[in-house]
Amino acid sequence: MKEISDIRKDFPILSRKVYDKPLVYFDNGATTQKPRCVIDTVDEVLTTYNSNIHRGIHALSDKASEEYEKAREEVRAFINAGKTEEIVFTSGTTGSINAVAFSFGERYIGRDDEIIVSNLEHHANIVPWQMMCERKNAKLRVIPINDNGEVLFDEYLKLLSKKTKLVAITQASNALGTILPVKEIIRAAHSMNIPVLVDGAQGIQHGIVDVSDLDADFYVFSGHKIYGPTGIGVLYGKEKWLTEMPPYQGGGDMVENVTFEKTTYNVLPFKFEAGTMNFPAAIGLAAALRYVTLIGRENIRERENELLQYATSRLLQIDGLKIYGNIEDKISIISFLLKDIHMYDTGMILDKLGVAVRTGTHCAQPVMDRFGISGTVRVSMCFYNTKEEIDVLAAGIEKVKSMFA
Ligand code: PMP
Repeated sequence: MKEISDIRKDFPILSRKVYDKPLVYFDNGATTQKPRCVIDTVDEVLTTYNSNIHRGIHALSDKASEEYEKAREEVRAFINAGKTEEIVFTSGTTGSINAVAFSFGERYIGRDDEIIVSNLEHHANIVPWQMMCERKNAKLRVIPINDNGEVLFDEYLKLLSKKTKLVAITQASNALGTILPVKEIIRAAHSMNIPVLVDGAQGIQHGIVDVSDLDADFYVFSGHKIYGPTGIGVLYGKEKWLTEMPPYQGGGDMVENVTFEKTTYNVLPFKFEAGTMNFPAAIGLAAALRYVTLIGRENIRERENELLQYATSRLLQIDGLKIYGNIEDKISIISFLLKDIHMYDTGMILDKLGVAVRTGTHCAQPVMDRFGISGTVRVSMCFYNTKEEIDVLAAGIEKVKSMFA
């Protein structure tokens, strides 16, 4: 693996200061910073071959279309999908889940059917299903979690029934860091012929994805959480489903033939890509995936595990600090509260020390409700963070405590 000092040089923003203090960026769960190669790639698209894709026969459009389709192939290879036809570009995880909720819902969901989610889901993997249930008079069922933040597998098995039409589950919790036993969840659902959508927004960032090995029916993620640009996301779907599902948006490029009497749709994956797509971001995403591959996904996991262990032991030494989500198998996220100190006070003081953490529900209010709290302070680390930064955080938390003593 590259030296950490060299890795940090790849990310221009990491050398900036905040309130005259070196930036310590621990909000990678919300969005990751961008390496120079991603910034340069998007810059190159916009400065040298910007032109609408799949539209023109001129040189610029050809080049943009070619790079966009190359990006699709790189995404396919990265997540180990079988075919490029199974890779649909969207605006992000939220866009992908809404697309499936609408389109799958239109095709397969009827009155009294059930969709299963877990208590650990991000709002993006709850609300689109609730909206679908409202439209279709279907029901949302929820897998409960225990005090450590793990899903109760036996309870999940009890929820599976003939009424279940889909299981939608996150690969890792953005609020607590818990990694879910997604493969086992999928296997159990498949034994009853129930498809599974995996929310990979957090999983992908930490390098844990192989859709073929998982046998996921749908796998969705956002570019901005894996060092790529914002405004681009991926919807992987098995060809069988994507073929049967109707398009969820109409417009240019998703059609084969349009008349006022009847319109026929384009082949996969274009059937699901209506209008001008964010091609500079898709091409930038491919650059991000190449960068992650260069650093090495195993190296990333190893380094992030080391940071997680170090940060956990440092924070647990702080009197009055309680961590939510206490299992071995976690991504590098620590959610905590300080006794008698409001999370926003903690977050605001840390900010003044140059430390960016997230405070609040992390768009996972049901998780907070489960623990009877209104939110947490979340430290989300990734491979470009350092132990020295964790020391700065720990000293910052001690300072917060001393200010409120
Ligand atoms: N699911 C999970 C688990 C997430 O962490 C997030 C982002 N915090 C989302 C979905 C939504 O991602 P986006 O806002 O990029 O669509």
